[in-house]
Amino acid sequence: MKLVVAGSAALDTIRTPREVHEDTLGGSSVYASLSASFFSRVALISVVGEDFPRKYLKVLRKRNIDISGLNMLPGRTFRWEAAYDGNLEHARTIRTEINVFDGFTPSIPYTVGGNSNLLLANIDPGLQNYILKKIKPSGLVACDTMNLWIERDLKGLLKLLKKIDIFLINDAEARQLSGEKNLMDAARYISSKGAGMTVIKKGEHGVLFFNKGLCFTSPAYLVGKVKDPTGAGDTFAGGMMGYITGKKKIDTGVLRRALVHGSIMASFAVERFSADSLARIGPEDIRGRYKEFRELTRF
Ligand code: AMP
Repeated sequence: MKLVVAGSAALDTIRTPREVHEDTLGGSSVYASLSASFFSRVALISVVGEDFPRKYLKVLRKRNIDISGLNMLPGRTFRWEAAYDGNLEHARTIRTEINVFDGFTPSIPYTVGGNSNLLLANIDPGLQNYILKKIKPSGLVACDTMNLWIERDLKGLLKLLKKIDIFLINDAEARQLSGEKNLMDAARYISSKGAGMTVIKKGEHGVLFFNKGLCFTSPAYLVGKVKDPTGAGDTFAGGMMGYITGKKKIDTGVLRRALVHGSIMASFAVERFSADSLARIGPEDIRGRYKEFRELTRF
């Protein structure tokens, strides 16, 4: 089985109080695909413009990601510029250039899809709905989103919720979507809208998992030096779904370990700028952090 990941591919300009990095590799589907590629086969669906650096295509190929669904169109690649506050907690969007995403309808080779799980990484819910309909995955469908879409396309997002198995959302967005303060109540609301399982991401405070009567939590793997939190949520989603896709059977144990692997992958993402930093780690780094994680959470 493979994991199909659809979402944005971007050139990000990131400002932190210490550093500025321009036109670095980013986008929800890129972070998620690189992360998932350590656990399962991955096929990417997205779009870039003519200006997308060839060296970034190499990074994706080097991780054996199938990029036949990465559309290349005339024009400029999607760009996002953001600045973080002193604690690197909140990103303030300075500029979003939609560019090649404007009116984009993906062309998807028939070889993408089939026996697969699907991760709809953060992107316009209209496009997520379209891709879900086209791919018709045989396995699980997971979906991530952001505050922008709750504000701009609630109808599209609620339509999607009815059709997915795992919904990933951060704590602030879960409260915004549900109107509930308490995260249990927010998860209950989300499940009442159709999503099977709900994962609420709480940044450095870890994640909560809800599935009907079942609820469990995983802390974040705490890193000493956070340099750039961009893409942590996407990297988490990719690690979690990649881990699930790499397993023959899904049970509670696999789901718990999937959360842990998502957290571990996110810890690598925040240590450096740019999504290509994920391609510099190896399976031994992941195994090392998994061992430490077990020690950290044993009682
Ligand atoms: P996060 O850190 O989880 O907010 O994700 C940041 C990534 O999402 C960056 O690499 C951006 O390129 C991408 N991104 C930012 N805004 C959007 C948007 N409106 N739609 C899709 N992707 C976006």
